[in-house]
Amino acid sequence: MDDATGFETLGLDTRLLEALDELGYEEPTPIQRAAIPHLLEGKDLVGQAATGTGKTAAFALPLLQRLGEGADDGPPRALVLVPTRELAVQVAQAVHKYGKRLKTRVVAVYGGQAIEQQLRSLRRGVDVVVATPGRALDHIRRESLSLEHVQVVVLDEADEMLDMGFAEDIESILGLTPETRQTVLFSATMPPRIAAIAKAHLRTPERITIARERVAAGEAPKVRQTAFVVMPAYKPAALGRVLDIENPGAAIVFCRTRTEVDELTEVMNSRGYRAEALHGGMTQEQRDRVMKKLRGGTAELLIATDVAARGLDIEHLTHVVNYDVPSAAEDYVHRIGRVGRAGREGVAITLAEPRETRLLRNIEELTRQRIQLAPIPTVADLKARRLDITKAALREAMLAGDLDRYRVVVEALGDEFDVMQIALAAVKLAHEAEAGADDDEQEIPQPPPRRGPADRGPPPRRGPPRGGVVLLHIGLGRAVGMRPQDLVGAITGEAGIPGRAIGAIQIGERFSTVEVLADVANRVVEALRHTRIKGRPVTVRAERPRH
Ligand code: AMP
Repeated sequence: MDDATGFETLGLDTRLLEALDELGYEEPTPIQRAAIPHLLEGKDLVGQAATGTGKTAAFALPLLQRLGEGADDGPPRALVLVPTRELAVQVAQAVHKYGKRLKTRVVAVYGGQAIEQQLRSLRRGVDVVVATPGRALDHIRRESLSLEHVQVVVLDEADEMLDMGFAEDIESILGLTPETRQTVLFSATMPPRIAAIAKAHLRTPERITIARERVAAGEAPKVRQTAFVVMPAYKPAALGRVLDIENPGAAIVFCRTRTEVDELTEVMNSRGYRAEALHGGMTQEQRDRVMKKLRGGTAELLIATDVAARGLDIEHLTHVVNYDVPSAAEDYVHRIGRVGRAGREGVAITLAEPRETRLLRNIEELTRQRIQLAPIPTVADLKARRLDITKAALREAMLAGDLDRYRVVVEALGDEFDVMQIALAAVKLAHEAEAGADDDEQEIPQPPPRRGPADRGPPPRRGPPRGGVVLLHIGLGRAVGMRPQDLVGAITGEAGIPGRAIGAIQIGERFSTVEVLADVANRVVEALRHTRIKGRPVTVRAERPRH
């Protein structure tokens, strides 16, 4: 592998490089390559990047390096502000993973979790606090969080934080941190309000937008491109289902990390596919062996990282599968360029987590080609497809002829049964031999629909939009100073409902609405009726939205 493209060139500490190696990261994503050197120098930075581009590591690695070894006690030295509790947990986990060897102590602080637990962690001493703005202010007011020693502040998903009404909170929090701090702002979009925050609080920041060069017309390969939106826990099952339906000749499945490649290879083999791993941690000899198996047909699936697959030329490849949406749109183009050569039909399939659908839109813009969003095939789809495959096999057998020696069987049975019955029994046997039993197939749940690239609208702010959703009318609004986060806090805190069950929130002057998942709606209504927001009792009415 070419070391010059790796993390080594970015100036990162050996202990961080070791952590990345352990995680199986083979090379930096574009946003990491662009951001990390500036951040290590201590510069402020505005980065335009969505989830899935690797932005968390882009700010977390330099932050960890600048803090150095974790202190034994004392107040936090870095603060990361995020819009939601899910993201708080996710970012804290990432910081913990990357900073393991530096013994960095990190805590996530968010609304809806019992405050006592957070107080205990903060009291014990912590290096990095990852917080939602509302809860951070709570702790500041209780004097359980002091920002006097903060050297680095990160505003992650700044546009979402503003959408959720956190602008004032962010201003107050920044005002309590030392002026000498380094400030980093990441946002998927750059509306004027974000530019204003950057102007007011960042010092001559570096600006990074990952350039979206257009692919020249005719250069993007002609490939049938489909994406399936699937929840993370169901990805292996979804991959299996899609492969069963597609029935590829030879397929390559791309993963982000070495670890993911190894894990997925094991899972797919245990599910009965003949899969081989290919990644940068393998010797040339091992790689040659894998390629031989694929060419010889003993393996049907190659599971690989981008780095390992570079320069591979696989003749008869029919399908490229992106197990995740690639962090760089350019990688997508390179990956799918491996199929659809020489006039053959190529197929590119992408599994996208609900949060990653925005990245699909970037790819569509780059290639100026549509990626069809499709529901994950159901068990009924699979059964129908398997029958199709059997039908095709029978048709081929009839066209090939040479069936005469079976005539005696049909004639003998013809005395007892009619020809249709004989044919049905023969098809059954052929089908079972060809396709195997499909009785133990389970349905794969579809995630609650989000607006995908097809809609072209702004992305939803959080949680589930339509479908299985109940609209709650709340009898309080701006007039009493209610903000979206008050409502979220009341729902997640009082009813113990996860933030992801909450969808769009609209705050009106006297009334507000909030979408919640239908299966928790009753609990939310009950809890809100027994709580107070801004010191006032709450009236709630539930309405099933019309579609
Ligand atoms: P993020 O955009 O920060 O949410 O990251 C998206 C995913 O990409 C996470 O699962 C990371 O663990 C993974 N990731 C981040 N950087 C890299 C990298 N350089 N190589 C492979 N995977 C990465």
